[in-house]
Amino acid sequence: MSEMNKILLNDDEMPRQWYNIQADLPHPLPPPVKKDGTPIGPEDLAPVFPMNLIEQEVSRERWIDIPEPVLEKLLLWRPSPLCRAVNFEKALGTPARIYYKNEGVSPAGSHKANTSVAQAYYNKVFGIKRLTTETGAGQWGSALAMACQMFELECKVYMVRISFQQKPFRKMLMRVWGAECIASPSDQTQAGRAVLAATPDSPGSLAIAISEAIEDAVTSKDTRYALGSVLNHVLLHQSIIGLEAQKQMAKVGAYPDVVIGCVGGGSNFAGISFPFLCDKIHGRDVRVLGVEPAACPTLTRGPFVYDSGDVAMMTPLLAMHSLGHGFVPAPIHAGGLRYHGVAPLVSHVVREGLMEAQSLPQLECYEAAMLWARTEGHIPAPETSHAIAAAAREALKAKEEGRERVILFNWSGHGLMDLTGYEAFLDGRLNNYELPDQELQQSIKDLDGLPRPPEF
Ligand SMILES: *Cc1c(COP(=O)(O)O)cnc(C)c1O
Repeated sequence: MSEMNKILLNDDEMPRQWYNIQADLPHPLPPPVKKDGTPIGPEDLAPVFPMNLIEQEVSRERWIDIPEPVLEKLLLWRPSPLCRAVNFEKALGTPARIYYKNEGVSPAGSHKANTSVAQAYYNKVFGIKRLTTETGAGQWGSALAMACQMFELECKVYMVRISFQQKPFRKMLMRVWGAECIASPSDQTQAGRAVLAATPDSPGSLAIAISEAIEDAVTSKDTRYALGSVLNHVLLHQSIIGLEAQKQMAKVGAYPDVVIGCVGGGSNFAGISFPFLCDKIHGRDVRVLGVEPAACPTLTRGPFVYDSGDVAMMTPLLAMHSLGHGFVPAPIHAGGLRYHGVAPLVSHVVREGLMEAQSLPQLECYEAAMLWARTEGHIPAPETSHAIAAAAREALKAKEEGRERVILFNWSGHGLMDLTGYEAFLDGRLNNYELPDQELQQSIKDLDGLPRPPEF
């Protein structure tokens, strides 16, 4: 066994194809439907997304070529390093080996650039001139702004107002990369004006910002909407993470016992784990673990249902685990994990019994992030800290059992623009928050009357 701590790939070793798990699922994914339960057709999505991405959304091809101009942009920061967290292992006193895939090396600081460059490219070649999107803390907005700049598209980002005011730095990144970023609710869409009329000082929400961005896209010339997670084509673009990790693990003759990722909409988790799930479906023994906040326990406590992606129910109904489209999560610092739903593909894989899900309290995640920063140096995003804390639990279990284990997790992004969360933690101002059952039951009442996904 090699003692290499940093396992790198050359540019010419970067994967040239994405992996599509839809080709290998034991049961097919339930289709998106309208409120009456009839399946959505590609033409229903055409005002919102370009047809080449809609084709990817429904494709069952196992391998899809990455276009040359996308490869060229990905090569600006990829292949990303796979590192062994030797100092973190020592601090935990574990016999386990912990490997992490560092997606924080992208220019925007997270894995989200893997799909933003692909989405900008496909819109560009389809003849689209302008993209709209929403962003919470700004990670997706900044990744899309960068990609639009690279492919000469205009970009408009509706940023949740409270983040717009409290987190100015990613807003500045968007401006540097040439995008227009405005606070949502805004007076520039009907959806925004309606909210402002009712609540002039609304702090905004992801659900409101999605409604504004979609309305802008479908009512403007040569404009489409881009989503940073949840959809099949987004998860497809992220598969490059796991494909690289497989090559890198092979270089040191290792294979993970468990693969871990944090889950918001599910894209970075799917990115690292789906290529390993392909192995598992074909007989290999590997555990796959998705980790979410206890304050927003979509996979562990939300039912598997048809639900919409936004509060105004502008999106089709997706078959997924959901806390209800009206769910408003507690204001935990991992903004990217505060979403009521989760990718249909990830939800489906849970139903297939191919993965496990776990929810963790905020303070344990910050404690793990602090230990990480003080041993490995890099400061993780609050979202990423959930994967770190779960890896630490696995490593301590290995210690108890006296077993060598190989743990692989996705280090989804850095936290250099999330330092106010660390400040609150260090000042002792953060709390744990477990979603009360009563609140959950109230929230999933929104699902009454909607169609139900078919049983296997
Ligand atoms: C957006 C984000 C997440 C959560 O989104 P997923 O689609 O679940 O990956 C996790 N980590 C970081 C750093 C993010 O920016």
